[in-house]
Amino acid sequence: MKFWEHPLVKNIGPEQINSLFATTPVTATGRYINTIIIAYCLYGIATTAEIIAWIGINFLGATYALYRWKCGNSNRTRPVTKHVIKQIMFISVYFTIPWMFLTLLYLGNSASQYEAIILLTMAAMAAVGSIQLSRVYPAAIAYLTLLTLPVILKGLYLSTEYSLLIAISTAVYISFLLMVIRQTSTLSIKHSQTIKAYKQQINELDQAKADMQKYAMEDPLTELPNRREFQTRLDAAVSEAQRQGSSVSLLICDLDHFKNINDISGHAAGDVVLIEVAKRLKKVVRDYDFVARIGGDEFAIIAKHHTSPKDTADFTNRILDAVNDTIDIDSSNVRPGISIGISMLPYDAKNTTALLSHADLALQRGKAAGRGQYNFFDQQMESQLTSDQAMETDLRLALVEDEFELVYQPKIAIRTGKLEGFEALIRWNHPSGRTIAPGEFFPVAEDRGLMPYISDFVINQVFKDMLAWKAQGIDPGRIAVNIHPTQIKDKNRMKRIVRDIERNRLDPSNFYLEITEGCVIGRGTEDVPELLTFLRNNGLRISLDDFGTGFASLSHLKDLPVDELKIDRGFINDLLNDASNRAIVHAMVKLASSLGITTVAEGIETQEQHTVLLAMGCTTGQGYLYNRPLSMYYATNLIKSAAQTRDTKEIKYANVTSSKILPQDRLNRATA
Ligand code: C2E
Ligand code: MG
Ligand code: MG
Repeated sequence: MKFWEHPLVKNIGPEQINSLFATTPVTATGRYINTIIIAYCLYGIATTAEIIAWIGINFLGATYALYRWKCGNSNRTRPVTKHVIKQIMFISVYFTIPWMFLTLLYLGNSASQYEAIILLTMAAMAAVGSIQLSRVYPAAIAYLTLLTLPVILKGLYLSTEYSLLIAISTAVYISFLLMVIRQTSTLSIKHSQTIKAYKQQINELDQAKADMQKYAMEDPLTELPNRREFQTRLDAAVSEAQRQGSSVSLLICDLDHFKNINDISGHAAGDVVLIEVAKRLKKVVRDYDFVARIGGDEFAIIAKHHTSPKDTADFTNRILDAVNDTIDIDSSNVRPGISIGISMLPYDAKNTTALLSHADLALQRGKAAGRGQYNFFDQQMESQLTSDQAMETDLRLALVEDEFELVYQPKIAIRTGKLEGFEALIRWNHPSGRTIAPGEFFPVAEDRGLMPYISDFVINQVFKDMLAWKAQGIDPGRIAVNIHPTQIKDKNRMKRIVRDIERNRLDPSNFYLEITEGCVIGRGTEDVPELLTFLRNNGLRISLDDFGTGFASLSHLKDLPVDELKIDRGFINDLLNDASNRAIVHAMVKLASSLGITTVAEGIETQEQHTVLLAMGCTTGQGYLYNRPLSMYYATNLIKSAAQTRDTKEIKYANVTSSKILPQDRLNRATA
């Protein structure tokens, strides 16, 4: 093993060097005293020059050591290098040289009492020096060996009984000292290692404490301040603005469709987007503004010293521009859209709580109206919130108090005018006496998580009504039920419909489920095609509602198990005036028929619309031309009278021929 790799050498730590260094004043003083004592003993046997040389060399060494000690460097923290060990060894050796000469030249020449004093001094030096140097093991060995070996050699050389005795006793003495040095060295190294371990633990604890303090205020992913720190800063900014009579603009920013990025590209990609958006926001704000990440995909900006809402609007436009640039993730481009809600103190709010809730409200309202834009808070939003809250309470009560009702709108075979069935539509009979259509209360019900309860009511009520008709021996034909996106995501609830149909011995093929784009596109709809196949395999029919408005592509027609396609009212409205609309409807009807899918035109209000659709080959019609949605009572009457007209073949709409409704040239143009 190399000298440097010996455990007692390589593990020498800064603590050993420091404690060795700390003893310098004591050892130097001892050296001065020893030098004087020995000089006294040499008096008479050594020349004056030799005595001066003796004193000079020893004093020089001791004084140099004291000087180094005085200059400091006594608190070493750096690791101990080979060079440092060599330096200490060199100094140790330097101190032994005059003593070697002393032994070799004068031992055995002086009077025995002086010799005894010299030997005693040397023994004391060997003991004290080597134990002190034991912190640096090789230095202690070198020191002890060079100090005592000449005594043994000189004793052997003189070979008197007295000198041999000294040589032997010195040898025994240094063997003993060597053992002590080794033990002391080992203990000292262990001690140093323990201190090192403690220091490391303390460092780690300090680091952990610093990290905790940092993360208590900072979001570790984006390194932006977190919600807690944001709250503190917002409080401070509001107090400052109130004192100075200045403004604070609060911008709450929400990434558009961030969940889709996470779902489609994975969470790592989501993280990249968040980090990049954070960087862009930091870049665009001024030094005295403040940006924080306050939630999953939510950021907040506190902007100061805007003199008017226009300043804030300009500032927000810069933010939208900065964020809305593509991010390259795994060689595909993601464009992070962002929606921003803004509230300004003192115009929109007078305190922190109001500022925050108003910015939040502006964000929510803005997002509902369309993403990728900013919205300032306005008082109307607050009254909307209050009325939404009131409606929520009313809706909850309505569920308990049975205030909902299903009405049934007839579906008519366009060619024959026969009643084919009904679409069940919900109505809310408000205690005020008003009948409320779903368009008015669905947004609040959706926002407040009430749709599952409403959907349950619809399904249960449809079953009740169908059983009531069955009990009267009446066949209502096909009944269509609108399925809400939240409803279709609950597979078990949907499968229960099949069981209930079976249990109530109803014909599943008379059961149409109307689904919209929201049921098959977006988060949580992955299993919907499989579920639709299951329902269809169990005899139910699937209808694509509001077709042409939302469905991203016609490919849904071939990818989904569909029986019926309902052309949205918007197309029917403009059927006669808009040629491109007519072309689209015609194409839908033809495409559906080529795929074996029937078509229903929604919202037929005029005979002309009816005629055009008849000419196009559209199968079924629904609209105010035939009937408005009817209560259970009127629907039952209609079924009964339809059954009679079927017998007498007096079918109201089949008799309306094209030529009676439109002059031939206009009809030709409309159906072209
Ligand atoms: P939808 O499924 O497309 O239903 C047709 C809507 O058009 C009904 O509005 C109906 O009253 C209306 N309508 C029918 N013919 C005409 C017409 O000739 N002219 C005009 N202007 N309107 C006509 P409603 O009942 O207000 O329902 C609106 C939407 O609310 C429905 O659109 C459907 O998406 C949803 N909805 C209605 N009832 C339910 C329900 O029980 N459950 C679920 N999940 N959604 C429902
Ligand atoms: Mg519908
Ligand atoms: Mg519809």
